Amino acid sequence: ERRTGFPNVADTDYAGEDARKKAQSALKSVRQRLGKTYLPLINGEYQTTADIVDSVNPSNPSEVIGKIGLISVEQAEQALQAAKAAFPSWRKTPVRQRAGVLRKAAELMEQRRDELCAWVVLEVGKPLREADAEVSEAIDFCRYYADEVERLDQGHNYDIPGENNRYVYQPRGIAVVISPWNFPFAIATGMTVAALVAGNCTLLKPAEVSTVIAAKLAEILVDAGIPKGVFQYVPGKGSKVGAYMVNHPDVHLIAFTGSQEVGCRIFSDAATVQPGQKHLKRVIAEMGGKNALIVDESADLDQAVAGAVQSAFGYSGQKCSACSRVVVLEPVYDAFVERFVEATRSLNIGPAEAPSTQVGPVIDATARDRIREYIETGRQEAKVALEMSAPDTGYFIGPVIFKDVSPNAKIAQEEIFGPVVAVIPAKNFQEALDIANGTNYALTGGLYSRTPSHIEQASVDFEVGNLYINRTITGAIVSRQPFGGFKMSGVGSKAGGPDYLLQFLEPRTITENI
Ligand code: GLU
Repeated sequence: ERRTGFPNVADTDYAGEDARKKAQSALKSVRQRLGKTYLPLINGEYQTTADIVDSVNPSNPSEVIGKIGLISVEQAEQALQAAKAAFPSWRKTPVRQRAGVLRKAAELMEQRRDELCAWVVLEVGKPLREADAEVSEAIDFCRYYADEVERLDQGHNYDIPGENNRYVYQPRGIAVVISPWNFPFAIATGMTVAALVAGNCTLLKPAEVSTVIAAKLAEILVDAGIPKGVFQYVPGKGSKVGAYMVNHPDVHLIAFTGSQEVGCRIFSDAATVQPGQKHLKRVIAEMGGKNALIVDESADLDQAVAGAVQSAFGYSGQKCSACSRVVVLEPVYDAFVERFVEATRSLNIGPAEAPSTQVGPVIDATARDRIREYIETGRQEAKVALEMSAPDTGYFIGPVIFKDVSPNAKIAQEEIFGPVVAVIPAKNFQEALDIANGTNYALTGGLYSRTPSHIEQASVDFEVGNLYINRTITGAIVSRQPFGGFKMSGVGSKAGGPDYLLQFLEPRTITENI
C-alpha cells in the first residue's frame, strides 16, 4: 500500500532571469510591509496582547520584521477552551472536507511563493534557494497529508462469516504544535496540518524569532477555510505559555521540533497526569543531531568534498540534519582535509538576501555567542584547519573546520547548530562506524564510498534515522525521504512518511455480531 510517485512540487529555477526578477520584486514589496504588528488568533479573532516584542532580521538586526503580540496564560486558557468547543464538529467534519482545506492551503502557498520566500529570507536569514525549498516542502506536506488521511480513512475490514470487524481511526482531540525557527515555514506547516487533517483542534506556538512567518501560515489556513477554534495561532513565551499548554489536562497531543533540552522537558511534563485529566498524552518530539559523514578510501573525493560543504554549511549549519562531524579513513585523510578546506574557503558569506550569498547569518545574538564559545572550546581540543572571517553587522559567523578532533571531544559530541565542523581520523571502516555511532544522537548520517561491503555494513550498522549514501545528508523530500531519528534525536515517526499521521489518530475496532 506504500505510496510511490507522490508528485512533489518543483522548486523555483533561479537560473531563469524572470524568476530572479520576481524574487527581487517580492523582497522589495515585503520590505515595504515591515514592522507591522501580528496578533494571536484565538477563536477566530485577532486579540490584543499586553506583551509585544520585535522580530528582527538576523542579517541586519536594526531592521524590525514585525512586532509580535505574545499571549498571556489567560489567553492560552481561552484558546484551549475554544479548541475544546470546536472539537465536536471538527471531529465529525468529513475527511474529504478536512483534506480540502489542506489542498486549498497548498494552492495559496504556491500563489504566494515569492512573497513567502522573502519573509523567510528576511526573518530568519535563510538564503533564497533554501527558503524556496522550504516553501516547496510546506506545499508537499499539505498535499501529502491530505492524501494520507484519505488513505487511512478507508480503514480495514477484518470480517469473518457471522462477524463484521471494522478497524477505523478517529482524532485524538486537542493538539499543541511547538515549531522551530530553522524551518519556520515548512516544519510549522507540516506539524500543524498533520494534526488538523487528522481531525484535531490545533494550537500553533511558533518559536519567537520566526513568528511573522508563522503568522503568514495562519493567514493562509484562515483563507483556506479552517473554521474558528479549530486552528489557533498562539505565539508566546515557551517557558510560560508553552509549558502551560503542555501541562494542561485538556491537551491530548504535543508535536514539537527543537532542542533536546526542551524536548526532554516536554516529554516528562506531558507524562504527568494532571488533576481532571482522563487520558495519557502523546508526544512527538524531533530533537537534535550530531550527524556524521564517513568518507572511506574508495570515495569519490570530489563528490565527498562537495557533499560535506553543502551538508555542513547550508543555512550556516542550523539544521538538525546538518553534518557536524566528518569521519575520514586515514589513507585519504590529508587529501580530504585539504580539499574540504579549499572548497569551504570559496563560500560567499553575507546577508541572506544577496543573490551571491551561500552562508548567511545565524539566528540571533544568543546563538552567535554560544557558537563562539564552542569555537573557543574547539581551539583547546583540536587544531583549526580553517576559520573564516565574517561581516560584523548582523549575527554572522564564518565557517570553521577543526581537524584531528578526538571522537570524545566536546565539539565532536554536542550539537553546535552553527557552521562548525569536526574532522575526525579513523584507522579503518569499523572504527569509522563506531565513531559515527558514538554519540547520543541518531538522526542523519552519510557515507561516501564505492565499496559495496561498506555500503552494506553501513545500511545495517550506522545508527541513524536517515542514512544517505554518496550524497548530501540534508534536504529530505516529503514522501521520498521520510524524515526523523531515534536515540536522543527524537520520539515519533517520520515526517513526510506513511506512519506519521497515525500518531495523530486513535485506532478503534468495531465488531458486530451478525
Ligand atoms: N528535514 C530537514 C532536512 O532534511 C531538517 C529538519 C530540521 O533541521 O529540523 O534537512
